[in-house]
Amino acid sequence: MGFNFSKNEFNQLLESLDQEYQIYAPVRKKKKDSFSANDLITYDLVKSLEEIELTAKSKYSAKEIVFPIRETLFHFVEGEQFMASDTDDKYIIFLRPCDRNAFKRLDKIFLENGPEEDIYYKRLREKVKFFVIECTTGFDSCFCVSMDSNTVESRDYSAFLRFEEDGVSCEVNDQDLAAEFEAQAKEIDFEPEFIRKNKIEVNLPDRDKLTNEVFEHQLWTEYSQRCIACGRCNTSCPTCSCFTVKDVLYDENKKSGERFRRWAGCHIDGFTEMAGGHNFREEYGDRMRYKTMHKIYDFGERFDFDMCVGCGRCDDVCPEYISFSKCINKLSTIIEEGV
Ligand code: SF4
Ligand code: SF4
Repeated sequence: MGFNFSKNEFNQLLESLDQEYQIYAPVRKKKKDSFSANDLITYDLVKSLEEIELTAKSKYSAKEIVFPIRETLFHFVEGEQFMASDTDDKYIIFLRPCDRNAFKRLDKIFLENGPEEDIYYKRLREKVKFFVIECTTGFDSCFCVSMDSNTVESRDYSAFLRFEEDGVSCEVNDQDLAAEFEAQAKEIDFEPEFIRKNKIEVNLPDRDKLTNEVFEHQLWTEYSQRCIACGRCNTSCPTCSCFTVKDVLYDENKKSGERFRRWAGCHIDGFTEMAGGHNFREEYGDRMRYKTMHKIYDFGERFDFDMCVGCGRCDDVCPEYISFSKCINKLSTIIEEGV
């Protein structure tokens, strides 16, 4: 079902949806980036069309809404445990096709990667509706077409929106929301469009040709010299899903406290440190190899599509100008040409 809104009508729709949903979208925060003169594009609550940043890529993705940076799992008092309480909040998330596909990867990791579902992820994820932002031009560092993440399969979204100069055209696939859209706008024919070519093309290596010799290749030593293990590539990645778990005891009663999980990343010091102090990926190049293989090899071996969606955020944020897309291409050349 297609609709067309004027800007005012769309704002009325948002006002109406805001009664029931927390609406998250990319926003521009003036001079809030870690480099203080720069704006930070990140996710936050919005109430109007004017607040949504549509001209720049967000530095961070929407994953923290469903997989919070720090999340309490349960509380304990003396010998008893209590699962952390849930909220009644429901969410609408505005995001581009690559980021919609990133949630497909997170769903695999948290819900289908073993016999048990992650109950904390599941209870948030079930309350999310996706509003996909049409993206036909992309940004300089994107390579979503190479990663097959430029489109959204089976129209798997609640709404798909095209932002135009004088309004918004869209498609609605969600019966819960159709009446709200109908009340605010006129019906039109609508067909979603997607980007078909990025400035960057990535050649994925043939998985069958990735052998153990690649692990020892000198390619990775370059990253040992350049990477500073800041972890920015991990925190900005919409598909990185590693976390660490910690207990804290409350001062008032040392037999009470909570267990929480917090984002962790394979590039960060301490990630592979084990009891006794053994660290099996000390070299930064080894961490780059591990991340690369996870994003374009072993996740795909298990789930039939690669983990990386080609959003290019890791390239955008790396202070050492390390490019993941170039790393994949170098690896492919090594595999194909045996260098
Ligand atoms: S590895 Fe880089 S390009 Fe791929 S999904 Fe993560 S941030 Fe995006
Ligand atoms: S952002 Fe760059 S320097 Fe920082 S950990 Fe990632 S690859 Fe290394």
